[in-house]
Amino acid sequence: MLDDRPPVLDACIFCRIGRGEIPAKEAYRDAAVVAIEDLNPQAPTHLLVMPLQHYGTLGELAGSQNDALLFELLRVATALGRERGGNDGFRLVANTGPHGGQTVGHLHLHVLAGRPLAWPPG
Ligand code: AMP
Ligand code: ZN
Repeated sequence: MLDDRPPVLDACIFCRIGRGEIPAKEAYRDAAVVAIEDLNPQAPTHLLVMPLQHYGTLGELAGSQNDALLFELLRVATALGRERGGNDGFRLVANTGPHGGQTVGHLHLHVLAGRPLAWPPG
């Protein structure tokens, strides 16, 4: 069967974290995704859930045929949010593109929990 999934990229910091080449504090890992502690946490829980393979944005993954990976990313992020946030809840964020405030060009979901979070964002 042809595998047309994108590769991991040597120049991408999150690809390298996925491969274990750059250290990170891992909260979860399976065959498709890894969750790490954000280096600059904005809440008591601030995790980044990302595919091991390189997709630049949520739109790139959603536009691919890889529905299973999209599901897995959301499943893991939701499970971690529920686990960390408990009855107080949590927030999932996918900053996308310049107006979305995305600074790392490898798809990741932020999982924030542990304090009340303001809305709307700035
Ligand atoms: P975004 O601005 O949505 O692209 O989010 C990128 C996030 O990655 C920021 O919250 C950064 O603090 C975080 N970050 C950048 N480099 C690392 C790293 N090496 N390990 C963990 N988190 C990182
Ligand atoms: Zn990457």
